[in-house]
Amino acid sequence: MTGNSPKDAAAVILLKHSTNTEAPEVFWVCRSEKLAFLGGFHAFPGGQMDASDADVPVEHCVDSEAAAAISCAARELFEELGVLVVRGGELLTKGQRLSLLDDLESGRMTWPRLLEHYELRLDANDFSFVGRWVTPPFSARRFDTWFFVVHCPSRQEPQVIPGELESGEWISAAEAYERWKRGEVVAVPPTVHAIRTLSKGLTDDLIERFLSVPEASRQIVRRIEFRPNYICFPLRTPTKPPATHTNCYLIYTSEEVLVVDPGSPYEDEQQALAEFVDQLLAERRISEIVLTHMHPDHVAGVDAFQRHLGSRALVSAHRMTAAPLSKTIQVDRLLEDSDVVRLRGSPEISLTVMHTPGHARGHICLYDQGTGTLLSGDNVVGLGSVLIDPPEGDMSVYLDSLRRMRSLPNLSLMLGGHGPAIARPYRKIDEYIAHRLEREGAILSALQDGVGTTAEIVARVYTDVSPKAHPMAERAVLAHLEKLEAEGLAHRECETWLPVTPGRTKLPVDVL
Ligand SMILES: [Zn+2]
Repeated sequence: MTGNSPKDAAAVILLKHSTNTEAPEVFWVCRSEKLAFLGGFHAFPGGQMDASDADVPVEHCVDSEAAAAISCAARELFEELGVLVVRGGELLTKGQRLSLLDDLESGRMTWPRLLEHYELRLDANDFSFVGRWVTPPFSARRFDTWFFVVHCPSRQEPQVIPGELESGEWISAAEAYERWKRGEVVAVPPTVHAIRTLSKGLTDDLIERFLSVPEASRQIVRRIEFRPNYICFPLRTPTKPPATHTNCYLIYTSEEVLVVDPGSPYEDEQQALAEFVDQLLAERRISEIVLTHMHPDHVAGVDAFQRHLGSRALVSAHRMTAAPLSKTIQVDRLLEDSDVVRLRGSPEISLTVMHTPGHARGHICLYDQGTGTLLSGDNVVGLGSVLIDPPEGDMSVYLDSLRRMRSLPNLSLMLGGHGPAIARPYRKIDEYIAHRLEREGAILSALQDGVGTTAEIVARVYTDVSPKAHPMAERAVLAHLEKLEAEGLAHRECETWLPVTPGRTKLPVDVL
């Protein structure tokens, strides 16, 4: 992991050629579900800046940073959708554009060289700057993205070039915004802001409206509404790297707000949360505070939050979360599997409690069957991996919990305790299960080769993990070994682990 500072990037909000100004159509894309970062999200074409982007002259642009961003936006638009927004290229045929694209993609020509060779020019007048958004620090991958509104040239039709993108389509901005509101698509705040802004038409004050929110001028985005009524509010916490933040969720209706995991022990973060919740509470009341599990990075801010509210809010958690916390936090309502947490008002939201131990004994998930939204706590997260640390952690039980989550019928979004939302939950859970079973197979074959202590097993199996993380990996190995022991496949003699059936090379394939 190389630090967490945002990388320069650019994105294009592409408008259809001579689109209806009252109901403009925009081209949005769906990111491939294979992508580790925001896979399955709806977004606009764009990407990270190349060093050579800055070598392209941009007409009518005096700012070199802006010029590099325009050059990056133009290149990404060309690479991802085949649309070339240049001056001097009006007479290029579709075939010629494709051949240029091939020159670029094959590396035969760099972007600056290609433009120069074909006498094509970029002009800042073709790229309307509509904001610069910075990915909040809760993500390991962060971008400082310049957004430009661009009119698609006549006679050019965007076409998704397979790779990072799965699909793309023209859609009226109003319909795109409705689809997000209905929970049919998942998108990050700048995308939602753009379709909402465009849905009011291409008015004279369009750019002012784009720039009217402070987040469009690089202010840190705190309110992240991946899905309507579910606000992710990342709080800085002393959590496990690579995560630096724990997601607090604020679920709201017209009347009530439910707070999940106000976990920061830091005063400035508690203050930020309090101020934000105050805005929501201007027209609503707090329904309760729900804790997904007992780890400090999920519960450390409960007290401060209660103090801020003045009157105590109800605190709810599983009894196996309440018990270890009893000295510090008063839990008022014990939640059991299949209990329902309801929010009054509109829309009506009912969250079914799922007791999903494994990471922690009292771990719960909250499932909104109506929209297919699962608050997955620390069982599945959008960043880093989940630590199973015995005796609180139990690998066998954890895998059962993952399978239970996998069996939910219409899961469409998972909101985890750390990192961005997960737009393709089934795929992610499958990856988690496969990863654990793969580790388990490797651990078992290490035992069969006579590698017997947790430290030795880590050295052999966790070659992809930095030595700094080895103590944590040893805990995970222990969790795997205890599972194998329970299944009669391994046993221990003092500090050394041995296989029960030597010579067996593979675990039975686990069929989901
Ligand atoms: Zn945890």
